This record gives sequence, structure tokens and C-alpha cells, in this order.
Amino acid sequence: MVLVYSPYYDNHQNSLHIENKSRTDSIIKKLDDENVRDYISVLEPNYATLDDLSKVHSLEHINFIKNFCKRGGGYIDYDTYATPLSYSVALMAAGGSIKASQLVMGGEKWAYSLARPPGHHANKKTAMGFCLFNNVAIAIENLRANYNIKKFLIIDFDVHYGNGTADIFYEDPEVLYLSIHQDPKTIFPGKGFISEQGHGSGEGYNLNLPMPPLSNNSDYIWILKELIGPLIKEFRPEMVFAEAGFDAHKKDLLSRILIDEDFYAWIGEYLMELHGSLVILLEGGYDLDALANSNLRFIKSMTPEWNLQYPYKTRSEIEHEYLAHANLSNSVKEILREVLDNFSPFFKF
Ligand SMILES: [Zn+2]
Repeated sequence: MVLVYSPYYDNHQNSLHIENKSRTDSIIKKLDDENVRDYISVLEPNYATLDDLSKVHSLEHINFIKNFCKRGGGYIDYDTYATPLSYSVALMAAGGSIKASQLVMGGEKWAYSLARPPGHHANKKTAMGFCLFNNVAIAIENLRANYNIKKFLIIDFDVHYGNGTADIFYEDPEVLYLSIHQDPKTIFPGKGFISEQGHGSGEGYNLNLPMPPLSNNSDYIWILKELIGPLIKEFRPEMVFAEAGFDAHKKDLLSRILIDEDFYAWIGEYLMELHGSLVILLEGGYDLDALANSNLRFIKSMTPEWNLQYPYKTRSEIEHEYLAHANLSNSVKEILREVLDNFSPFFKF
């Protein structure tokens, strides 16, 4: 159990932007206040190399970011910034995801790259949505090149659709991408509908759950429980990644989903129980208290020795609380029905 983190990430910084260093600072402070280092190792990442990046991104994009930063940085688009040091910070963020995945390959139960900038909106040729390079894709291509593993599952629970990750693997049947996010009719990036289900040989390997605004813990836990277990059983991924965004929290101002710490505690323990190991990459989450508290619960749920020190709920207690008398909305039941229909040619649920 390892956190991969460096204070060097703080050099990608714009205090007027919501994606700033106070995010990871607040998580690390919260974890340290609860003596995380007694239970979990904290290791520094290495820099990703140009070779690592170019397995995913075009040379034009890599050089654009490099030169943009060299010239002093600024805004790349209306909501994505870079500083003079952001290129090297982004290389380290990509290196953090590689290191976390290699640690799990080496036998760690889980490893969590607490990196900034995030990655899931970055595409092959473009920065987007606060993201410069796609951290999860860079880690997956590194594993493909250096280890004999082929099948990857990505669970993305950031409130926004990870359009970059989805696009990179859209025609790839070896990477199953499942994203639960707020209905894209109501939120950035305006994509991530159920009908976007992959293309060519990748058809059936891009599974979207566009949740209506005001969805809560019951909705999220119910629909994921219906799907993830059967998917893992059938797809049999050799490595599971979580693109862990915490901006679906009810206190987060960027979204209108109403989940809270109990969901994040549930998903951590649930994924560990289902697959036995997990590589986690930090994505969004902008309410600093919610982000720190949700990360504490999420990480503790995967660290039984640490969790025992506190009277926190177990996965089965959380399921009982939210599923026993759940009053699920018809629109959430309809999403499951449509997904089961659309994906029945590809998976037996
Ligand atoms: Zn997000």
C-alpha cells in the first residue's frame, strides 16, 4: 500500500484557478494529521520520459506543451493553464502513474498516485479540462511495453466524463473504460452518453453511466454494484485502474451530484474485494474539505489495519444503509436498462 506523491507538483500552480496546489496539500495534511505514514508508505515518483509520453501523445502536442511552458506559460484554452514548470511537473505526474502501476505489478495491494495536473481530459493531440497529458494511458502503454499483460479495466468516478481516456482507447478491445459521471447534457465536456460505446474492434469497451443531477449514494452504489462485478468476472482484467475524482461530492461546486464520503469509502473497499489489487490516479475534486475527507475515507477503506483505529462503516454497513430501503429514481433504473440492452451483445450480465 503506497502513496506516490511529491511536493514538486506544487509548481503547477495558479491560485486564481480551482485546480491548484491547495488540493493535494489539503489531502496530504489530512492524511498526515491521521498518521497515514504509520500504515502506508509514501514514495516519490520519477519523471516519465519522452518515450513514455510518445506512446500516447503526438510529438506535436508534447513539444507544444514543452515550448508553451518555456515561453512562460499562461492559458492553453479557456480553463487549462500551464506555468513555466508545468511541463516538468506533468512529466512527474505521468511518472507517478507509471510508478504506481509498477508497484502493483510488483505485488503491492494498491498504489495511489496523488498527482497534479490531472489527466483524464487530455487527448492524444490536445490539453483540455485542466489536464496536460493523459496519466492513465501513459501508465497502461508502459505496462504493455514492459510486462506481459494485456487486459485493463479503468473505472472513472470523476463527475466529468474522461473524454481523453475514452478517446485514446475508443477502438481498443483490451482496455475497458467504465465512467460514471453527471449527465453530459448538464456538465462539461458535453460527451459521455450511453450510445458512445466504442468503435470498430473497441465497440462494447466504452461504458458510460450518465447520472442525472441530484443522484445520491444509493443511486451510485446500486448501479455500479449491478455492473462492475459481472464485468470483472467476464472481462477478467489483469490490472484495474481507478481514475479517482472527488468532484461528484455534494459539497463540490462544480457539479450537481449529491454523493458523499460514504460512497468513496464503499468504492475503495468494493474494488479491492472484487479484484484484489488496484492502481489509483487522482483526478478532480475542488471542495477542499470534501476532497480531504473523501480521500481519507477512500484510502482507509482499502487499508483495514488503519481503518480499525476508527469507528468507520464497512462496505456491507454502507450497502445496508443505502440499498436496503433505497428509493431509486426511474431515470437511474432506465440508465441500467439501456446499458444492459446496449451491452448484451458484448457481455453477459
Ligand atoms: Zn472532474
